[in-house]
Amino acid sequence: MTFNENSRFDSKNVQRRRGRGGAIAGGGGVLVLLLGLLSTQFLGFDVTQFLGGGAPGGGQQQAEDLECTGAEANASFDCRMEGGAVTLEQYWAETAPQLGVSAYNDPTVVLYDGSTSSGCGSASNAVGPFYCPSDEGIYIDGQFFDILTQRYGAEGGPLAEMYVLAHEWGHHIQKLEGTLQQVDHRDVGPTSGMVRLELQADCYAGAWMGSASQYTDDAGNQILREPTRDEIQQTISSAQAIGDDNIQEQAGMEVQPETFSHGTSEQRTNWLMRGYQEGVGACDSFGVPGSEL
Ligand SMILES: [Zn+2]
Repeated sequence: MTFNENSRFDSKNVQRRRGRGGAIAGGGGVLVLLLGLLSTQFLGFDVTQFLGGGAPGGGQQQAEDLECTGAEANASFDCRMEGGAVTLEQYWAETAPQLGVSAYNDPTVVLYDGSTSSGCGSASNAVGPFYCPSDEGIYIDGQFFDILTQRYGAEGGPLAEMYVLAHEWGHHIQKLEGTLQQVDHRDVGPTSGMVRLELQADCYAGAWMGSASQYTDDAGNQILREPTRDEIQQTISSAQAIGDDNIQEQAGMEVQPETFSHGTSEQRTNWLMRGYQEGVGACDSFGVPGSEL
């Protein structure tokens, strides 16, 4: 799924943070603990910014709004995320009502290097991309994709990167639906609420993939082209790489289904493709028996 070179887009929701980050939002007690644990990572930092709580905009970091052409999105990660976001905004504004979400609003997307602050604490590439419900932000460090390909054997590729963005966007939809808050995040295991939540986010990502080529920029130019077979394959490869069983195997551990929180490689692929082929109507992972997950 490459971008139409002639398209041009500017999402108000995506920001690129530059410079050294790491200001941590939260109470004083937590800060001390985190500083202790993360002292190596944050070596050389001005500690006072942590104790002061950090500015909401990201401590010392500067936030920059992005404006991109399709040609730039084909070449750069930041613009790819920007272009992905613009189509996700259109897709969900149209689709959220089908899920009973009457007042849809977009999440923010924060692109950063190394570490930054979030409403859920410090973000770093050690954590991987995540969605923070309290500030409705998606946090993505581009280096995560190197880890995915080098360490977990994913094929990589532009659509595979946007799949991760779309998955996190799916968690935002779940927040608006109210399901994110209902699931106990300690409830893990092969048929747990956590696994159902994650598989549904994969399905939502697939549903966006199936419709993403419909959307246009302000001048009416198509933004994303139809995904190719190779790009679909690369995305499946990413979904497989981040299956709980694969992650445990790559870490040299025995596979322990009772600890699963995201689903197996096979389940993640199935729910992604289910969304891709059938749309959001097929994404009710909470309504199926455990044997059909
Ligand atoms: Zn997730």
